[in-house]
Amino acid sequence: MKVIRLRDGKERSLLRKHPWVFAGSVEKGKADPGETVRVEAQDGRFLAWAAFSPASQIRVRAWSFDEAERIDAGFFQRRIATAVALRQRMAVASDGVRLVHGEADGLPGLVVDRYGDLLSAQFLSAGTERWKAPIADALLQATGCSRLYERSDASVRALEGLEPVTGWLRGDGATEATIREHGWRLTLDVADGHKTGFYLDQRDNRARLAGWVRHFGLKRVLNCYSYTGGFSVAALAGGAEQVVSVDSSAPALARASAHVVLNGHDAARHEARDADVNATLRAALEAGERFDAIVLDPPKFAPTAAHAERAARAYKDINRLGLKLLAPGGLLLSFSCSGGIGAELFHKIVAGAAMDAGADGAILARLEGACDHPTTLMFPEGEYLKGLAILKQ
Ligand code: SAH
Repeated sequence: MKVIRLRDGKERSLLRKHPWVFAGSVEKGKADPGETVRVEAQDGRFLAWAAFSPASQIRVRAWSFDEAERIDAGFFQRRIATAVALRQRMAVASDGVRLVHGEADGLPGLVVDRYGDLLSAQFLSAGTERWKAPIADALLQATGCSRLYERSDASVRALEGLEPVTGWLRGDGATEATIREHGWRLTLDVADGHKTGFYLDQRDNRARLAGWVRHFGLKRVLNCYSYTGGFSVAALAGGAEQVVSVDSSAPALARASAHVVLNGHDAARHEARDADVNATLRAALEAGERFDAIVLDPPKFAPTAAHAERAARAYKDINRLGLKLLAPGGLLLSFSCSGGIGAELFHKIVAGAAMDAGADGAILARLEGACDHPTTLMFPEGEYLKGLAILKQ
């Protein structure tokens, strides 16, 4: 077993059960990509069993802080069984569930979503890449599913020195799935959808939108960055009369329109605009359009804190336009999924946008990702999705 020795004082984060060690903290030791290593403090004390990643700034990701634990197929079976059992206890209101959420489930770099009887996974670290086959077997065993599709085409893989990989890992057949979320039927394709196919993290916020649209009697809804229209279906279910979905992906919009009909709503109540959101908001303002509810769920503008400043301007811009377009008494659901922008900063950005728009509003709720995408106490970096539900004055 190869040993990685840390510099003096650099053992602190592992002692607090934080799973990452950055390149600059390593004093000596080398291993192959994904190889299991024993991480020791300067004085030789055991800290963790971990996966080594020679190409990555995150040089070491801990698998276990227990010296007696062996990192083998059984280890992955246990961790995956625990993650699956946690989701069962959480009683998620859908058969589309995030089963494994990386570090939060003690499996750094592994993301697994279940869509009905189909699994879709991302292997994003050298360690998960190396253990791919035992992980795949453990996933089938823990879920009873027979099909697992791999979507290891996220750009973060490049940081680990890994090429993109996609395709069936176990089983084969149709890559399309239909899930039931809060009683709505939503379809996706694990081969060509975003990420693993769908944005499960917004599940509870879609239900809340439906509830608010009904409660406040909101009629005209603008769903920006709609993807396949999850929030659009929610708004219609809540009784909205007219919903406009805006996205720059034509295939996503086609699915959004299909979802409206699939869920029993009149196609005439939905309009799909294949366009840039920023330009659409400006054009709508110029045309004198007004909406009673607006959802802003943009892609990650700031992947890391280093991008925060430019991202802040982009968030502020769309929120300012959104608040202007919103009728008095209207509802804004505004999100950021940038890990580099914390909830407090996001609040400040939206407040700045409101100032510029000459608007104010009451925060109805602070929103976050669904509980099957947990943030753990020891790994706060896992927190990424935050949002505000604002009732405009
Ligand atoms: N709210 C969605 C998820 C949104 S993901 C849901 O509940 O499923 C972000 C979406 O923004 C993607 O679908 C992407 O195609 C779209 N997008 C990215 N940049 C855009 C832009 N400049 N204008 C319009 N859409 C954009």
